[in-house]
Amino acid sequence: MSHDYEDLGLVAGLEIHQQLDTATKLFCNCPTARREPEESVRSFTRYLHPTKSELGELDEAALEESRVDREFEYLAFDSTCLVEEDDEPPHRLDGEALRTALEIAVLLDCEVVDQAHVMRKIVVDGSNTSGFQRSALLATDGEIETSEGPVGIADMLLEEESAARIEERDGGVTYGLDRLGIPLVEIGTEPDIRSPAQAKDAAERIGMLLRSTGKVKRGLGTIRQDVNVSIEDGARVELKGVQSLDDIDDIVEREVGRQVELLEVAEELRDRDAAVADPEDVTAVFEDTDSGVIAGAETVMAVRLSGFDGLVGREIQPDRRLGTELSDHAKRHGAGGIFHTDELPAYGVTEAEVAELREAVDAGDDDAVAIVAADREVAESAIEAVADRAGVAIHEVPEETRGANEDGTSRYLRPLPGAARMYPETDVPPVEPDPTEVEAPELLTEKVDRYQAQHGLGAGLAEQIAYSEHMPTFEAAVERGVDPTTAADTLEGTLTELRRDDVAVGNLTDEHLLAVLERVEAGDLPNEGIGPVLSTLADDPDLSVEAAMDEADVGGVDREAVREAVVAVVERNEEQVEAEGMGAFSGLMGECMGELRGKADGEVVSELLREEIGKRA
Ligand code: ADP
Ligand code: MG
Repeated sequence: MSHDYEDLGLVAGLEIHQQLDTATKLFCNCPTARREPEESVRSFTRYLHPTKSELGELDEAALEESRVDREFEYLAFDSTCLVEEDDEPPHRLDGEALRTALEIAVLLDCEVVDQAHVMRKIVVDGSNTSGFQRSALLATDGEIETSEGPVGIADMLLEEESAARIEERDGGVTYGLDRLGIPLVEIGTEPDIRSPAQAKDAAERIGMLLRSTGKVKRGLGTIRQDVNVSIEDGARVELKGVQSLDDIDDIVEREVGRQVELLEVAEELRDRDAAVADPEDVTAVFEDTDSGVIAGAETVMAVRLSGFDGLVGREIQPDRRLGTELSDHAKRHGAGGIFHTDELPAYGVTEAEVAELREAVDAGDDDAVAIVAADREVAESAIEAVADRAGVAIHEVPEETRGANEDGTSRYLRPLPGAARMYPETDVPPVEPDPTEVEAPELLTEKVDRYQAQHGLGAGLAEQIAYSEHMPTFEAAVERGVDPTTAADTLEGTLTELRRDDVAVGNLTDEHLLAVLERVEAGDLPNEGIGPVLSTLADDPDLSVEAAMDEADVGGVDREAVREAVVAVVERNEEQVEAEGMGAFSGLMGECMGELRGKADGEVVSELLREEIGKRA
């Protein structure tokens, strides 16, 4: 499906959240390394009750959230401190995080504020022990380039990362404190994006700039992007949890498609004078039902959707119908979902029961009926939510926050939050950031060019190593005189192969890698010995490179020893050498390598063999 985005008035903006790779957290001295839940040493429980006096008016999103989760359990680790537990005031804003954030502001061409004030933003989902997230506006008014024109950067904030959601139970959530307080920059673009491809391009560009600092965290969950999408006659929808940059164009395209379909449905509904009736209890209709889901429920509630026949089952995204949207709302209230007449009879519901259901709620041929089967309280609030959503469908596309699904579609999560209410954090003094203190780093795109021009790398390898987490190791190796291609091949190729062979490459430090590469450069470890030595070091990281070469039985044969071995081979074949001269080379080379493979560099062997044959021919 392809749309004329200009015609539809597509507008999109991005919000990108990136964790910084600092030594300590934003407001305390705890490490920023992630932990496994199993490493937790204790836990504690809190109940967060946002009070009206504290919040003024809670917005709709906050209210819904505070209704859903109530009891919060926090997993603490051996490193957890009183700040993270909210038993001690926050310390000063971390200087390293501030400097990295300023570098990012410079790369985004932003104006940096004169004074950054730390503010509190209320959160009611328990993801912060204090009940609010601390956040400081650092920069505004930036700009990035995309292939379809510039995109403005509205603002950049330095924030504390929330606690990681580990488990959701009925009425509660378990959070891990390891993630809470990791420095996070939030970058918001202006709504300048006009096509799905441009959304992806802008996100990639920002990602490249962030990684150019070399000081951002890498890997799953360390960068999160929210995509805001609207079309002219539709509404702003915030799509959360986009898994990878590659999906951003699909997500935007599918959201445009959803809004277009919903607008068509709305028009059709208005043509039919559609209306939503008051929900009714229809438990009696299903007294003897064979449908497992319904038979097990206390109450069945129904709502007549006048004029909706055929439209509830209409597809608005691949594999998602208007009925799926209604069902998302029912689920928010604890129901398993809904049944509707566009899909019945099915799921054990008979044709006779459908007829009886229609009769019970006075539904005619043009009408649809949706039902929710659950405990009384759940069924009642869920059917209200379904009725409300169906009523909106007659008129418009609702503004909302949606969760991205893996296939590029999305599901309803909650209403769009209102503008966040901020309060000053009086425990942290303001800071006066000085952007002249930081230097803009070389961009990764510039590195790719330089690696080709200066180091003679091929375009593919240059790009791979520049964007790789091993880039700093690569640069250190080159600085120490290692051949750039050997360094890049080792860090990108060899390490990947070893990982595939289940070698614990995570045990290898930069020092291991650099020391091994230096031995290659010195000529006493051939290229084909790199893998075996690294594999040995990964198994036993305390070994010296020397000892690892010994154990792997590679390298360690220096030039003189190579010459000795070559001379021995030449002397063994003296007659042939005298008769054939250089003609004997390839046969003797094979014999030499039979003895020296993995221990000496083939080029050195060949050079010395040529010399020795030359002397005797
Ligand atoms: P809020 O005050 O709710 O945070 P912002 O103006 O900061 O709203 O916008 C949040 C995000 O939504 C930004 O990424 C912005 O680019 C984007 N955005 C704003 N208006 C629209 C719109 N009409 N359609 C799509 N995206 C929009
Ligand atoms: Mg905003």
